[in-house]
Amino acid sequence: MSNFNRTTVTAALIYANGPIHIGHLAGCYLPADIYVRYLRMQKKDVIFVSGTDEHGVPITIKAQKEGKTPQQVVDHYYQVIKDSFEEFGVSFDIYGRTSDPVHHQISQDFFKKLYEEGKFIEETTDQFYDESANQFLADRYIVGECPSCHQPGAYGDQCEKCGTTLSPNELINPKSTLSGNAPILKATKNWFLPLDQWQKSLEGYVSSHPEWKSNVVGQVKSWLQEGLKPRAMTRDLNWGVPIPLPDTEGKVLYVWFDAPIGYISMTSQLTTDWEKYWKAEDSRIVHFIGKDNIVFHCLIFPAMCMAHGEYQLADQVPANEFMNLEGDKISTSRNWAVWLHEYLQDFPGKQDVLRYTLTALSPETKDSDFTWADYQTKNNSELVAILGNFVNRAFVLIDKNFDSKVPEKLSGTGLEEAMMKAVQEIPGNLSQSLENYKFRDALISAMEIARIGNKYLAEAEPWKLMKTDSEKAGTVLNYAVQLVAHAAVALEPFLPFTSQKLFKALGGNQLAWSSIGDFEVIQANQTLENPGLLFEKIEDEVIQKQIAKLQETKKQMELANKKVPEIKETTSFDDFLKMDMRVGQIVAAETVEKSKKLLRLTVDDGIRQRTILSGIAEHFSPEDVKGKQVTFLANLSPRKIMGVESEGMILMAEGQDGELVFLSPSAPVWNGAKIS
Ligand SMILES: [Zn+2]
Repeated sequence: MSNFNRTTVTAALIYANGPIHIGHLAGCYLPADIYVRYLRMQKKDVIFVSGTDEHGVPITIKAQKEGKTPQQVVDHYYQVIKDSFEEFGVSFDIYGRTSDPVHHQISQDFFKKLYEEGKFIEETTDQFYDESANQFLADRYIVGECPSCHQPGAYGDQCEKCGTTLSPNELINPKSTLSGNAPILKATKNWFLPLDQWQKSLEGYVSSHPEWKSNVVGQVKSWLQEGLKPRAMTRDLNWGVPIPLPDTEGKVLYVWFDAPIGYISMTSQLTTDWEKYWKAEDSRIVHFIGKDNIVFHCLIFPAMCMAHGEYQLADQVPANEFMNLEGDKISTSRNWAVWLHEYLQDFPGKQDVLRYTLTALSPETKDSDFTWADYQTKNNSELVAILGNFVNRAFVLIDKNFDSKVPEKLSGTGLEEAMMKAVQEIPGNLSQSLENYKFRDALISAMEIARIGNKYLAEAEPWKLMKTDSEKAGTVLNYAVQLVAHAAVALEPFLPFTSQKLFKALGGNQLAWSSIGDFEVIQANQTLENPGLLFEKIEDEVIQKQIAKLQETKKQMELANKKVPEIKETTSFDDFLKMDMRVGQIVAAETVEKSKKLLRLTVDDGIRQRTILSGIAEHFSPEDVKGKQVTFLANLSPRKIMGVESEGMILMAEGQDGELVFLSPSAPVWNGAKIS
């Protein structure tokens, strides 16, 4: 880090086509924010840049779905996304948009320089084209039967049923989603970046960064091993940055060409001094992304920058894996997510609790799982019981015994020495974790201060000392206040809202990073302002409500996606009449020896009592079914099962949760009534 004089931190540009959820926050925005806050606390020169990606097919698809223009879609979601980030304290220096004219200009200049220097290959290929819509079709605009699992409705780039990656020409009976017609193949010219020509340089770049995270290196190396191929940097689409060349109407820059340039164009809107953040050799560029963006940030954008020649390559790309929710992949289309705007409605003022939980569960090296039970435990057992409890005890004791003023400190004893020694370890551990992007470990180090504080108070017992030696009690509380200050500083990157409350309580000024471990940082006689309880216990009912909400979502989705079995072959009316279906009453029921599934039912059919064996024992106990009126097939030929003769079959259907349901008459009827 020492060779760099400034740091340019970027966080992935997110498509402006929907609100954001915890997976986004945990994936790259929270780690990036923690990192940037850490650098700012040390007064380092750092800028934090991100924004929305407002081009590409995901935007036009959303617009089509909502019956809006792409511009309306991006205008709406830009604001929604920006607001959510602000509410959660993600402290961008600029949050820009790729639809901005400045961005268009800079992207076009970038493209033009590469074009003029002959860095592209022009190639004419056949692409699917919708004749009635007069438009070339991006992969997502083509659906057809999956060649692998034969599910209809697979997309041109992927079958969502079986997960196979596809290209549109592999689909069986491809159809355009715009018109529903079969597309034709039509020749079109595009500009390709010959990534194969940059393979050697990229290999050199990647191998010069052995410090990159193993999940990043693994993915990049597998791309390089496969061998890079030329990749089209333009697309036939009418939404995006227009190609700055004549006769290219209906073509735009590939969204992954212009999106990373967005980091640069947004920086140019932040400061007139922007070039040094991207071009100077003593500038360090760090891209925070999710694992789905690794190839673009570690290979394609670097190749673009190499071809351009003026821009520095990223020094670090700390990509995270994915965060799941309650054991299931977070999915916008299945509404399986905790949305940030909904979270704030349900948990107002609890931004830091979510930030804390997401950091503690961060998918740093492998996919992780957010559960509401973990959220509750993190809040109740850590934030309330450790941090909140320590801070509260220190403030309450000083309020009560020292008129809310920091007492004088006399020289300490062995207890203080041991406590101070433990604290001295923290700044080093904390910085090492943060600088190696190990935010989970860093959070544990920062919280260690509050753990030390609790242990210290429990051992020193200032509440007892007050009765015998108030000067000694004052000394202990002075030390405790210093520890509160250390915690406020160390936790600022993680819990900025809580830290601000603590800085205010300790006298109003934000304290410097170097204050951690400084036991003179808060002066005696400083008046304190008790911040009140920093965290409150979250009860089981509140958590149950969130889990129930998710379960309801899942149930609705399953019902909506339920595959109704196909209708059987047509049967004749005569055959139907051969079946004698009746209503009867279960008058007795008992389990069948050695069978887990069967119940032996005695059914009153109006004429006599007959025995019917039914495979319902895993769903009903004999007591459940006794007295019920049910429907049954009366003339099914008798069968011997487990030594018992069964005369007929009880009719059942499957319920919403996969349970069995009797088909009972909606009003009582006489036993033996015919069903027709
Ligand atoms: Zn498939």
